[in-house]
This record gives sequence, C-alpha cells and structure tokens, in this order.
Amino acid sequence: MSEVSVIKDAGGPDPATDKLVVLDNVNKHFGALHVLQDIDLTIARGEVVVVIGPSGSGKSTLCRTINRLETVDSGSITIDGKPLPAEGKELARLRADVGMVFQSFNLFAHKTVLENVTLGQTKVRKADKGSADEKARALLDRVGVGNQADKYPAQLSGGQQQRVAIARALAMDPKVMLFDEPTSALDPEMINEVLEVMQQLARDGMTMVVVTHEMGFARSAANRVVFMADGRIVEEATPEQFFSNPRSDRAKDFLSKIL
Ligand code: ADP
Ligand code: MG
Repeated sequence: MSEVSVIKDAGGPDPATDKLVVLDNVNKHFGALHVLQDIDLTIARGEVVVVIGPSGSGKSTLCRTINRLETVDSGSITIDGKPLPAEGKELARLRADVGMVFQSFNLFAHKTVLENVTLGQTKVRKADKGSADEKARALLDRVGVGNQADKYPAQLSGGQQQRVAIARALAMDPKVMLFDEPTSALDPEMINEVLEVMQQLARDGMTMVVVTHEMGFARSAANRVVFMADGRIVEEATPEQFFSNPRSDRAKDFLSKIL
C-alpha cells in the first residue's frame, strides 16, 4: 500500500473528503508561455503541501492564482467550496481567506509593526481598533516579536520582519496560508527562526501551501510534496516517497542537484 493511505489511516488530512482548496484543470499563459498546464490540485483542510521544482516552473504563479493576484485562462479555483470571484468586495473578502507570505516581506515601511498587523483587520474585517490591537499583540507574541510592536520594519532583522509578515497574514484568520519561498531572502542564521514559526503553524493544524527549497522543512512538516516542472505537476508523493524514491526523471534530476 502507498504511504498516502497510511497517513489517512492515522486520521491525517484527506483531500478526498475535506477539500479546502481545489484547482480544477487550471491553465494560464503569459503571452506564448504556457505557465500553468492542466493543473489539478486538491488541498485538504489541515494539510501542509510543499511545492518544489526548478526556477521558472510556475510555482509562484500557482500561488498567485490561488489568491487571485493572477487570473487564469481556463479551469476553476475554489476555496472552501466558493469559486474565486473576479473582482469587487467579494474578492477582497475571499482573498482575506488566503494569507500570503512572500520572499520579500512586503511590510508597510511607514507603519509600525503593530499597525502592519492591525491594518487588514480594521479595513477588511471591520474589527474595532481595541480588539485589532489585542489580537495583533497576541500574534506578535506567538511569532516571537511581541517586544518589537512599536518599531518600524526597517528597525527589524529580516527574520523578524518575515515573522511580522506571518503575523499580519494570520490576523485575517485565513483558511489557508501560502508561503512563496519565505526564507530565500534571509541570511542563513535567520532561516530557522522563520521555519520554526511555520512548523508550529503546521502542528496547530493550519492548511499551508509552501514553496520552498528547504528540504528539511519539507521532510518534517509536509503531508505531501508536489513537484512542478515546465508548468505541470509532474509528481505528487509523501515526503518519504518523494525523497527516497522519486519516480520521474525530472524529479530525480532536480533532487540530484539540490541534495
Ligand atoms: P517559479 O516561481 O517556479 O520560479 P514563476 O511562476 O515565477 O516560476 O514563473 C514561471 C514562468 O513564468 C517563468 O518563465 C517566468 O519568467 C514567467 N513569468 C512569471 N510572471 C510573469 C509575468 N508577469 N509576465 C510574463 N512572464 C512571467
Ligand atoms: Mg518563484
């Protein structure tokens, strides 16, 4: 039997029964470039999916289509049963269900750390300032930067800024969190502090899609590894299967270069 069924038997997230994010035959072009080709991907509530693959294979575009930063040419994407609307208030609300953390932290430079984490709550979720502040402080504590609340982003290290970016995304109570190479821009000594926050989120049951080259994280946190090449999902497997016994030549070649 496959190891996937072992996870299911252990009561892990099961994409067959509790679908949170569903991409159905998604295609996208940038001009002549067919950047996403027939993408079928179902992510279960509580599942951690690590997306890996060579540069230019479409990983970032995949993430960006899931929260509608990019449109698709054909196919559909649903979040918790609801199709992504094209625009307007509905889109803002649905997008808030999808937290996103980028390689470059993208904090608002002229707002304090605390304000960065309260802004979306008051603007999109219509929270009052008192409860937004309280929640922001709790989240900043949770990611280990509670004592930085009144500073500006530039006064923080890269690792601290990225943890603020995670807190900011969490403040919207997202149903799923997307991470696009969240540690790639960090100095090596700061990578672990961000990965540890992500590990804890995974243990807490957050549904996560993580594009990363951190194979240690993939091995320890992922329920499933999705390997992309040339705009296609070439292989999907548990981390154990994928790292010990990749099936496709593309995956074997990729792993031989990075491991
Ligand atoms: P990855 O994240 O796997 O490195 P991307 O999704 O960023 O891959 O990019 C996939 C391909 O699409 C690359 O060839 C890239 O140059 C191209 N691409 C990405 N964004 C755009 C865009 N806005 N316009 C045109 N081409 C793009
Ligand atoms: Mg990318």
